[in-house]
Amino acid sequence: KVRVRFPPSPTGLLTVGNIRSALFNWAFARHYGGKLILRIEDTDTARNTDEGYTYTYNSLRWLGLNWDEGPEVGGEYGPYLQSERMDIYADVVAKLLAAGKAYHCYCSQEELDQRREAARTAGQHSGYDGHCRNLTPEQIQAYVDEGRRPVVRLRMPDRPIVFEDLVRGEITFLPENLGDYVLVRANGYPLYPLVNPVDDALMDITHVLRGEDLLPSTPRQIALYEALADIGVGSGRTPRFGHLPFVMGEGNKRLSKRDKGSGLGEYMERGFLPEGLLNYLALLGWSIADDRDVFTMDEMVEAFDIRKVNSNSARFDPKKCEAINAAHMRMLPADEFASRMVPFLAQGGVLPAEPSADQLAVLNAAVPLVQERMNTLSESVDMLGFLFVDDAQFTIDPDAAAKVLTGDAGAVLEASAKALADVEWNTEAIEAALRASLIDGLGLKPKNAFGPVRVAISGRRISPPLFESLELLGREKSLRRLEQARR
Ligand code: GLU
Repeated sequence: KVRVRFPPSPTGLLTVGNIRSALFNWAFARHYGGKLILRIEDTDTARNTDEGYTYTYNSLRWLGLNWDEGPEVGGEYGPYLQSERMDIYADVVAKLLAAGKAYHCYCSQEELDQRREAARTAGQHSGYDGHCRNLTPEQIQAYVDEGRRPVVRLRMPDRPIVFEDLVRGEITFLPENLGDYVLVRANGYPLYPLVNPVDDALMDITHVLRGEDLLPSTPRQIALYEALADIGVGSGRTPRFGHLPFVMGEGNKRLSKRDKGSGLGEYMERGFLPEGLLNYLALLGWSIADDRDVFTMDEMVEAFDIRKVNSNSARFDPKKCEAINAAHMRMLPADEFASRMVPFLAQGGVLPAEPSADQLAVLNAAVPLVQERMNTLSESVDMLGFLFVDDAQFTIDPDAAAKVLTGDAGAVLEASAKALADVEWNTEAIEAALRASLIDGLGLKPKNAFGPVRVAISGRRISPPLFESLELLGREKSLRRLEQARR
């Protein structure tokens, strides 16, 4: 039975890289009917905030990446916050020490630095040199008497560590590159290289799918799993690993959490659809077919195969991300599209959080005008705001006014107002009346004819189609705006 995990730290930030890892684990679990475990890696309490936890849960829920075990849902393998598992780690470390799988190391930082430097100068490997591996009881006593407090190191096997990565194929690490590493600090603080594999073992994790940046820690973790199996802690089997390719940003540098476009919050604020964002993130290493970029999460779950993940680094392309999101926007049923815009229109101060029936009717009628033109939901504020704001709130973009409401624009607006004063109020009649008056009557080109009208009624140079917009806005408001724009 497949059991995979997503183990974020609750720092209040999820990056697109984190989310891609969560997505691939989720899709893998769903594909095999397995379980996704959410585990919070919060031993480093200084970095954690209460908001960090809620942010993590809310973000994953917003994305639709639901977990089967973990905080808020429980499960048989809890607790799922590492901060609540400190006793477990202490117990495991005691067992590792008792079995000789780990040992106390009394070397001071200065001693380590000195010997590392000497090894480097001599052209040797510079990892831990095993100084404290086999201390005699007398040597240990002497260190204790000096008042030294030891760290705990894992005794690494003296042979290559070879494993079959699900993405990258066979990988070999040589022992000379794998010094005995620290599991517990001198102050008793258990480190990531200890707690992460210990929890994977105790939580019976079958597959570890995570970013390539963690590849260097994998051989060390494998050695720890083997040690744990030997002393009867956990499932006794080493999980399979799949390391997901790096995500590269601008200038072919790894996307960092400081880069623009790397944090989830930005996408939520801009009104990406979760399904659009996830679709794009899936493309960072995986594709459903050579000639197909757009798919639903159901389709991804059905088709997902970790062995088809590409090991080459993937480039994060903000334009493509937007285009994929736009494709999902087009796929939404009209009423769904309308209701997804509401929070953004409310946030933009254009509609109340619970719009009236009349407002909803206008919004629904506007959907066909904008659904093909928007890339993100927040664009609705600029695009549709003019339909909802009252005269006092309505403003004309100064730049649009300066460019378009000049010259004989006043005459165009006056003629438009006349033409619209008593025409039947529907798109066709509005269009016919304006064409007759402005193009046939005044002899204007369409751009010069309709540009000023557009700016006057929408306040923008770019708006939904003009005649439909006029119809939705209604005769009275339209005439008032044409009048207002002439002043
Ligand atoms: N807490 C670690 C991180 O977020 C987990 C890495 C792992 O998947 O092992 O980087």
